[in-house]
Amino acid sequence: MLSNNFFLIFVIGAVIGSFLNVCIYRLPKNLDIIYTRSFCPKCKKKINWFDNIPLVSFIILKFRCRCGKKSISLQYFVVELISALFLCFVFAVVSNYLDIIIISLIFYIFIVIFFIDIKHFIIPDSLNFSLISIGIIKNFFPETSLNLNQDMFQSLFGGALGYFVICLIIVLYKKIKKVEAMGFGDAKLLAGIGFLLGFQSIFITLFIAAILGLIFSIPNLMTGKSSLKTAIPFGPFLILASIIYFIYF
Ligand SMILES: [Zn+2]
Repeated sequence: MLSNNFFLIFVIGAVIGSFLNVCIYRLPKNLDIIYTRSFCPKCKKKINWFDNIPLVSFIILKFRCRCGKKSISLQYFVVELISALFLCFVFAVVSNYLDIIIISLIFYIFIVIFFIDIKHFIIPDSLNFSLISIGIIKNFFPETSLNLNQDMFQSLFGGALGYFVICLIIVLYKKIKKVEAMGFGDAKLLAGIGFLLGFQSIFITLFIAAILGLIFSIPNLMTGKSSLKTAIPFGPFLILASIIYFIYF
């Protein structure tokens, strides 16, 4: 059985991570993620299959591409490693296959949003709407043992509240401080989190995300590298905060 073979699960997780890297690179550029073969992000040349083995190829090639010997971002390796370790962890802790699929889908979408938002300051609608869909669909499967909100009303109210709260912050900041505090991508992301975790999660998640954002900004503020008006992507903090909420609340 799959659930006992952790080497196989690790390999599957790493392959999924490799696909997530493709999504992180191509989705913000509106490139096809399925049919186009892997190419080097630096030289744009096609990658041989033996240079495209998750985790292993990076180590063999010492984090440089074969085509131009250009350095390849550590992100590729980190995403594959996290994806592999996560899947092993889920199989070790969760026994029900439906739960494994739901929690893995959510986590892998989170990873893609996390890195795209850090790099491009956007969150593609396709990802947010996928999260929202999972958040609604999971309400029809009350037998799951996950710590998600299974109550249809609480879930729908959570989605609406999440969207409304961030829209309100955007409008108020624009009126009072004349700056864009957040984007509507963040609003849709918090809506997705609300659908998944219920309305009770919204203010706690927002609060934790704000604290995390502040902690992250302090070093740059103290060294004068940035001011309070410097834009930072908020999506990654919302994601970390929702994971903290999922685990501890
Ligand atoms: Zn190259």
